[in-house]
Amino acid sequence: MADKNQNKAEPNVSEKTINLCIRRGLIFPSSEIHGAQGGFFDYGPAGVEIKRNLEAAWWKYFVRDREDMVGMDGAIISPAGVWKASGHVDSFNDPLVECKKCKKRFRADQLIEGALKINVDGMPLDKVQALMTEHKIVCPDDKGELSSIKSFNLMFKTYIGAVEDEKSESYLRPETAQLIFVDFKTVQTASRKQLPFGIAQIGKAFRNEISPRNFVFRCREFSQMEIEYFIHPNKLNECPYILSVIDDSLPICTAEMQGEGKNSDVVMVTIKDALQKKVIGTQWHAYWMATCINFFTSLGMKKENLRFRQHTKDELSHYSSETWDIEYNYPWGWKELMGLANRTDFDLKQHMKFSGKDLSLFDEEKKERIVPHVIEPSFGLDRLLFTILIDAYSEKVEEGETKTTLKLHPSLAPVRVAVFPLMKKDGLKEKAKEIYNSLKTHVPCDFDDAGSIGKRYARSDEIGITYCITVDYDTLKDDTVTIRDRDTTKQERIKISDILSKL
Ligand code: ATP
Repeated sequence: MADKNQNKAEPNVSEKTINLCIRRGLIFPSSEIHGAQGGFFDYGPAGVEIKRNLEAAWWKYFVRDREDMVGMDGAIISPAGVWKASGHVDSFNDPLVECKKCKKRFRADQLIEGALKINVDGMPLDKVQALMTEHKIVCPDDKGELSSIKSFNLMFKTYIGAVEDEKSESYLRPETAQLIFVDFKTVQTASRKQLPFGIAQIGKAFRNEISPRNFVFRCREFSQMEIEYFIHPNKLNECPYILSVIDDSLPICTAEMQGEGKNSDVVMVTIKDALQKKVIGTQWHAYWMATCINFFTSLGMKKENLRFRQHTKDELSHYSSETWDIEYNYPWGWKELMGLANRTDFDLKQHMKFSGKDLSLFDEEKKERIVPHVIEPSFGLDRLLFTILIDAYSEKVEEGETKTTLKLHPSLAPVRVAVFPLMKKDGLKEKAKEIYNSLKTHVPCDFDDAGSIGKRYARSDEIGITYCITVDYDTLKDDTVTIRDRDTTKQERIKISDILSKL
């Protein structure tokens, strides 16, 4: 028996995970019977359970378990004013090129990255164009000549009501963050929170991506889980929780470690050293970096597949003074899993300027009005879920047959326990149903009586069910069952009355 736990360098693991998602109906392209459009996905029965569990785990970790955090849920469509203030109307663009032969459209930065292995995020368009021309980059599909670069805005535009004019112009939100800024004062008043505190939101975001790719890693409709954490502008280095993470070691790749001819590997640095050497700008930023990576590892993700990459000066967004992405070592390379930006007071000030409304707070100590600064941990729910599935994907070859297991953390598993009668006859099915009925109000539970026991184990391992319980003839005699652990495949005989405590 050969154990072949997948390594992320193994290029096929994402393909295998995608196949599994589609085959078992976890996640699949949306509206397929009408000809699916790229970048839209639906979640089936097991997929939606995992997604809801992930949302719940995030909400518990970042909101319910903290006294300095509150939640909100904003509208998906907002008037153009919101997006003019945030800068999205002017600058939420990607560089678009079109093949003159096949008319397919591509992102110029992705083509350059593919061909030259360099990151051109934030580079002015004329320089990106110069690189395209100098390196004679052509259509990746049919080698056709490409058009010159155009700026393409990623927001979906719509009009509210019957009249299509400037006043009714609106956008589907490309991020959940902006509504938190717009509602900052209302939420602060309602919750009576004082600085420092955060507002969290989970919800849909929409981006008209030029080339959606890698399944739900980059799609056009997706969910985000975002926090805007508000801090007094003079207290970015006064984080009361810093000691709880000060000795944590983070895998980092600084801006200096990147760039042409330089290696972009990973070094381990403690928060203490990173702050002393000013590798990380502020205590609050460092605290949130440690907290976010601890969240990932608390869900069983492997730390060796994660790193923090600092944005280079050219790459920084217009609103950010410092950004660190948590990247995952995907089969297609290190790529952003989530972002952690210091958005300063940019957004609140922009919304004050464009709306004419005051979003400042009164500093009782100094007797003056202040506009808080913001650290933003921004997670993509679908991207994280897909990453967790890749991370949890495992294969084992048993007697020439490949068996797949999703080694999901129990809190994320779509079903905690599946109950199987060995046979449908002789009262075994009824006994198994009785056990299932007694468990299902306590834990997510499944019942399956179709096929051989081996097949039922294999089906449940594939979607990550943590335990399987088999009801056999001994159960009828002594009220015991066999409980099988998904990860070790070990089986144990326990009393029916002990099942819940075992789970
Ligand atoms: P990328 O560089 O990958 O396009 P981004 O820097 O534009 O990402 P942000 O605007 O920082 O992403 O969004 C925060 C998070 O939302 C990302 O880290 C990612 O997890 C998720 N996200 C962003 N765009 C998409 C998308 N098109 N599909 C799925 N998730 C996304």
